[in-house]
Amino acid sequence: MPSEYLTTRSSCRVCGESELYPVLDMGEVPPANGFVDDAETDEVLFPLEVVSCRSCSHVQLKHTVSREFLFSDYPYFASSSGSIPEHFRAYGEMLERRYLDEGDLAVDIGSNDGGLLAGLSEGVRRLGVEPAENVAAAAEERGVPTETEFFDPETARRLRDEYGPADVICANNVLGHIDDLRGFLEGIDELLAEEGAFVVEVPYLVDLVTEAQFTTIYHEHISYFSIRSFSALVEPYGMAIADVERLDRHGGSIRVHVRRQQSEATVSEYVEDLRALERARGLGETETLDRFAERVRQKKDALRQLLFELTEDGASVVGYGASAKGNVLLNYCDIGPDRIDYIIDEMEAKQGTYSPGMNVPVRSPDAFREDDPDYALLLAWNYWDLIREKESEYLDDGGRFVVPTPLPDVRNE
Ligand code: ZN
Repeated sequence: MPSEYLTTRSSCRVCGESELYPVLDMGEVPPANGFVDDAETDEVLFPLEVVSCRSCSHVQLKHTVSREFLFSDYPYFASSSGSIPEHFRAYGEMLERRYLDEGDLAVDIGSNDGGLLAGLSEGVRRLGVEPAENVAAAAEERGVPTETEFFDPETARRLRDEYGPADVICANNVLGHIDDLRGFLEGIDELLAEEGAFVVEVPYLVDLVTEAQFTTIYHEHISYFSIRSFSALVEPYGMAIADVERLDRHGGSIRVHVRRQQSEATVSEYVEDLRALERARGLGETETLDRFAERVRQKKDALRQLLFELTEDGASVVGYGASAKGNVLLNYCDIGPDRIDYIIDEMEAKQGTYSPGMNVPVRSPDAFREDDPDYALLLAWNYWDLIREKESEYLDDGGRFVVPTPLPDVRNE
């Protein structure tokens, strides 16, 4: 593998200690968003291994694939997809109610096309930080000032000089992607006002482990946070978790409110409740993580067996939804064109490509309508409610969905 894109961690990204416990090895796979134009493409494979820090319990990937490789062509526009605008509206209201006054500065790191900031009142000064140029341009177009930068201490110092300290800094589904977490926090420490709030959304380790959600594990997602490990991350910078909320997003997330320890903020009791929950679930113990890995392997075996039985009987199966997590599933479970004929996806840019790793062709939903396959393997299970409604005719006519999670299952309604 090309070493210039890959680094192997010898120490924890949160606390710097060096004892990393091996949790789960998912093999060598290409990046989960790396659809290829040609099934003969020589794909670049990277190891996908989950480890846990014996000292602070932080669960993370053993390797880092450089962001230049992973994010070189990142087409995701947050506001244009699904339920997010309502989420941003409520989120913005909460920020203004709790933390923002007229003239205050709100910074959103990884601001995408400016969806969150665009919803804030006119009187609040807004600043997005977004490395992807095309996405940052879309934010500027809707009136959200945006710096095209990766966030690091140097950027933070420049922003502070230019705009002053930030009363709110948000980073939603950003921290999980960061290799240099301590550098990121150093930047937050530079930029955050004395009484400011750093508000972060990350997928929650409790949900990942409880439901053995291995399909969110791919190279872009470097870290999997608990309250315990998040505290260990912020405390060296004189900050602490003051409040936390649990959200349904991304299979179970937390929104963490971080304040400086010397600020006037009080700490919500719910923070301690979640710490207690994590202790009760044994989240910091290697036995718990071993059990998680064992359940992941069982899910793989169960899905493989189900698809084997269906296709041995001559049934036709296609994939439904060409998603990154679907690719994790196909690669880890070794499900390729011998089991599913093709994957359908509405996004035209993906049609005519092949899924990374297993190289299953991606086709338009028209193929699905014409072929009327016996089974559709659901690869976008987070949209199951929408899909079952949309495909009610297929289901009424005898079509079946194979739903891979929480446990592999055939559904006819
Ligand atoms: Zn650690």
